[in-house]
Amino acid sequence: MLLQGIAAAPGVAMGPALVLKNDTHTVQRYEIAPEQIQEEAERLEAHIRLAISQLEALIEQTRAAVGSEQAKIFESQIWLLEDEEFTGAAKEAILSKRINAEAALDDASKAIIGIFESMEDEHLRERAADIRDITNRVLRLLEGKDARPQQESGAPVILVAHDLTPSDTAQLDRSSTAGFVTDIGGRTSHSAIMARSMEIPAVVGSREGTVQVRTGDYVIVDGSLGQVYINPEPAIIEEYKAKQIRFAARRDELKKYGGQPSRTADGHRVELVANIGNAQDALAAKQSGAEGIGLYRTEFLYMGRQQFPTEQEQFQAYKVAAEIFGKDQPVIIRTLDIGGDKELPYLDLPKEANPFLGYRAIRMCLDETELFKTQLRAIVKASAYGNIKLMFPMIATLQELRQAKALLAEVQNELEWENVKFNRSMEVGIMIEVPGAALVADQLAKEADFFSIGTNDLVQYVMAADRMNERLAYLNEPFQPAVLRIIDHVIQAAHREGKWVGMCGEMAGNLTAIPILLGMGLDEFSMSGGAVLAARALLHQLDRHEMKQLADEVLQMTSSEHIKLHVESRVPAIAEWRA
Ligand code: PEP
Ligand code: MG
Repeated sequence: MLLQGIAAAPGVAMGPALVLKNDTHTVQRYEIAPEQIQEEAERLEAHIRLAISQLEALIEQTRAAVGSEQAKIFESQIWLLEDEEFTGAAKEAILSKRINAEAALDDASKAIIGIFESMEDEHLRERAADIRDITNRVLRLLEGKDARPQQESGAPVILVAHDLTPSDTAQLDRSSTAGFVTDIGGRTSHSAIMARSMEIPAVVGSREGTVQVRTGDYVIVDGSLGQVYINPEPAIIEEYKAKQIRFAARRDELKKYGGQPSRTADGHRVELVANIGNAQDALAAKQSGAEGIGLYRTEFLYMGRQQFPTEQEQFQAYKVAAEIFGKDQPVIIRTLDIGGDKELPYLDLPKEANPFLGYRAIRMCLDETELFKTQLRAIVKASAYGNIKLMFPMIATLQELRQAKALLAEVQNELEWENVKFNRSMEVGIMIEVPGAALVADQLAKEADFFSIGTNDLVQYVMAADRMNERLAYLNEPFQPAVLRIIDHVIQAAHREGKWVGMCGEMAGNLTAIPILLGMGLDEFSMSGGAVLAARALLHQLDRHEMKQLADEVLQMTSSEHIKLHVESRVPAIAEWRA
């Protein structure tokens, strides 16, 4: 079976699935003879034991793949299976109703689900889902429908989940997770972005992944085409083994671009830098050939923990990245951009109807000045150790930029008083991701040292299409004429003020977009580390003047499909380097 989703992170992964979700079941029901009662009760008991041992194995796999938090789900399921209240009631039903084990278990399960569902406490109500899940597991075993390939212990799994939060994804262990598939999400949801930076092949927005795939199924994830094969024919497996080999060969071929400058065939220099979420990523980015960091998503330092990181912890995390890239190569640290799909469990903010349009990023930081100033202190202190630049996210108005800069100046003055060394001339830029900011880019460019265009958000706001919604992928599309025009507007406005412009949204690493952006005059391209070498290889084959003409043509075109086809036919090298 083949599922078509959204290509989230290139590459091919194959292996046994680990599904992080419940499934449903139809149950056989028949009467049994009195002399079968004992045997039927023993049959039930044996399969409950089997289910417990499966769950124990799942706990280990889940712990390794996604962390202890997710594994707890299975721990509480074991606890429920060991609870006499539930399984005892099933055995009792075999005796009193003289029915088969499956039907008895189903009856006991429904009764207990009814009790849980009527409870006030939300946490207890959620236990109903666990009862459903364990009932299905035991039923499948009882009916002998669990004859799926046994997973080799320790073999990397293909994780299949309804959704993975950014912090789930951040905790994925590369050695135990070969790839992942989610039901929902778009190409610029943060789980997709992280999969690309971790180089884990992934498909998001498959819609039915958790419905169609069962734990233990053999799954192929084609993260380049957005396809998921479930228990494919041997011929398809062979085809994909060959594809994996081609993918590895391309990666080897690209290695020769590692130490080379990022310039076009006619000698025009741009910067190819990487997006990272922590200090370890900085090293990986350097090894992938990035000439610096164009976006350090600092919110990841705040995730997967119970309280805010201290100034000292943050200082260390920024300093390490600065030192990896040295005095010349830039490390752009973006201040906290929490909100949207990135939540902090310990920051108790009210639930919002539209989180992407809500109290997030700089909006929150300008309110929570203590939290913000702690981060600013850490960044300013780290600026003494490399070429750090600071960037504010989600700026919508000039007043927000001024307020943020005023807080930064306070911090710098305090540190001066304390005799702490730092770089007084650190550049301070902003992300352009709110259409309102893009339209006043001329005003903002007078007071910001640089811009970095955040297309992940900019596209969703320009097109009014949630970046997490797989049904809106046709609108959430950086090649939409409206998006290209606003990007061009921002670049020209900044250049008129003598400021440089980068892009750190996912579009910057898109091989079809690079020729257009180069033609528009973009100065810096920031992408996942794994995309840098292909971008550089392509750049070497482009002529800046020809691309300027291409950009002018594209800006007059009327559909994203035509624009992509036009660029790809004018620049055949795109196909050569595509993953
Ligand atoms: C963006 O919006 O393009 C961006 C780079 O920021 P994030 O993806 O973290 O919202
Ligand atoms: Mg953004």
